[in-house]
Amino acid sequence: MRLSSAVKSLKPSATIAAAAKAKELKATGVHVHEFTLGEPDFPTPAHICDAAKAAMDAGHTHYTAATGIPELKKAICAAYKRDYGLHYEPAQVIVTNGAKHAIHNVLASMCGPGDEVIIPTPYWVSYSALVELTGATPVLVPTSQESGFCLSPEQFEEAITDRTRLLMLNNPCNPTGMAYPVGTLEALARVAVERNIPVLSDEIYEKLIYGDTQFRSFASFGEDVKALTITVSGVSKAYAMTGWRIGWTIAPNDLTKGMSNLQSQQTSNPCSISQYAAVAALDGPQACITEMVAEFAKRRDYVVKRLRAMPDLSFADPSGAFYAFFDVTKYFGRTWPGGKVPKNSTEFCDLLLSEGHVATVSGDDFGAPGYVRLSFATSIKTLEAGLNALEEFLRKAK
Ligand code: PLP
Repeated sequence: MRLSSAVKSLKPSATIAAAAKAKELKATGVHVHEFTLGEPDFPTPAHICDAAKAAMDAGHTHYTAATGIPELKKAICAAYKRDYGLHYEPAQVIVTNGAKHAIHNVLASMCGPGDEVIIPTPYWVSYSALVELTGATPVLVPTSQESGFCLSPEQFEEAITDRTRLLMLNNPCNPTGMAYPVGTLEALARVAVERNIPVLSDEIYEKLIYGDTQFRSFASFGEDVKALTITVSGVSKAYAMTGWRIGWTIAPNDLTKGMSNLQSQQTSNPCSISQYAAVAALDGPQACITEMVAEFAKRRDYVVKRLRAMPDLSFADPSGAFYAFFDVTKYFGRTWPGGKVPKNSTEFCDLLLSEGHVATVSGDDFGAPGYVRLSFATSIKTLEAGLNALEEFLRKAK
């Protein structure tokens, strides 16, 4: 079949491809230490599953309003009021098939050929692909470990042209595990207002924050900022609900109207049963989040301690999400038994998988050559064995 040129240039999601490679090796009988996945390993809390069962029993198994049930829109608005003091009308909310679909809705509704979208790197793998699908151009702005992988207000200013349609921010960030300091975020918000640039703030990891780090929702810096902010989030990461596929956008009314038309033509409503489950997640007890975050924090501390003790790795302690992101450039050009010499992160990760049986994702896929992403959304026991294997692998480099 003849593919469209837009789809022809699409690559599969790199994280999914890395997980598939690990699975292939596993199928040959090898025990693989799996650190590619970006999803909580906890079960979805019981009260949320019960709400889904009750929804089925009550017959909520048909189409709903294309942009989501009123109960869920109300619960989303109540959660932003409760958690961030932000007031939104349910009419500003669109419930989507996960946060990824929410991002697609925004980009497809706002961007087209000739437009530019500013994306700080490292970035989540799907950002540039989804921008390119619209015909717009991703403008990649590199950030560094020294600056906590944060876009500076100066960099933001410099990247703006008369074609800029949007800034895409991810806070806390996948793959870096970094959360923006409140001051930097506010300074970025001021630039957005001065230059009238809308901001897509992807806050899917908003609840996964460690230590003294403070999370601030981008829209909360004032009414002028809120008027330019499209917040994207969902239940996937906070409530261990990746499979339920519920995300959302909260946006100004005109954009919401456009996205609502798009969604009504393209997908109709997200799963009715999942929507009722999401109401229970947002309206129900929030202790499940506290418990999961406490466990993630223990894992994060363990991973940081172990990686610190390994020679020639460099990284910043993750302050959010569940990823460690480390620089492996000191291993490039070194020789492993068997004569393999990795020259970049992709070759390093391939060798780490084939020789060390540790599955990670190359920074090349996140616009961060020289880095490797390790997900700590797995048990301490699994982390311990995998980090032992990583340590042993690194020791073999001559
Ligand atoms: N945004 C970021 C930064 C992510 O890491 C992910 C998932 O990994 C998503 C969005 C998509 O989330 P969902 O599973 O709700 O589509």
